[in-house]
Amino acid sequence: MRLRNLKNTYELINECDFLVKSPDEYIGKWKSLFNNDHPIHLEIGMGKGKFIYEMALNNPDINFVGLEKYDNVMARAIKKMPNKLPNLLLLNTDALNLKYIFNHEISAIYLNFSDPWPKKRHELRRLTAKPFLDIYDNLFVDEKVIIQKTDNIGLFAYSLHSLSMNGYQFKEVSLDLNNTDIPNVTTEYEEKFIKEGIKINYLYAIK
Ligand code: SAH
Repeated sequence: MRLRNLKNTYELINECDFLVKSPDEYIGKWKSLFNNDHPIHLEIGMGKGKFIYEMALNNPDINFVGLEKYDNVMARAIKKMPNKLPNLLLLNTDALNLKYIFNHEISAIYLNFSDPWPKKRHELRRLTAKPFLDIYDNLFVDEKVIIQKTDNIGLFAYSLHSLSMNGYQFKEVSLDLNNTDIPNVTTEYEEKFIKEGIKINYLYAIK
């Protein structure tokens, strides 16, 4: 997601009291940060944060963590969020660092409209490539749940293959999410695609 720099990116991030500044200090201790032992769900690449904020608002018994690597995107997300929520924390880092941040503490991972990296030479950057799946393995409490939405059929096909090669099974797969009765909170990208009549691919994978 390319955005022009927000003037006060640094201030927005630095002053946000629900963005965890040194997340590696909490490895193994996220329960204490949330002050309860509710399950923790993680969105990787939250963009401007509509999805994670609404999910947290609608599901007070689940804790949510929104991860976004670009600080100017994160700053916009913070600016858009109306309030701090007790069950929502944000992380401004790359997904590659997740191995230093959570140790068997996550119950579900959402990948919404992740960058497709269509070129073969960029395959390992896709968030469902094996090196990422190996990192995710150590984040999950026990049962591993990955939920993906994408407009990009190439990334979707790749994910189905990569997830199944890595031991996942599929509870749901749809090539047209909006023509199913699967409950759905939309993301910013998704709203745009729906307006353009583009179908949304959806998978719910379990290991
Ligand atoms: N989920 C949002 C944004 C989709 S765009 C939506 O659906 O509207 C993909 C987002 O993932 C971008 O904001 C990008 O900066 C972020 N991203 C891409 N690779 C990432 C990585 N390795 N770690 C964390 N965030 C990443």
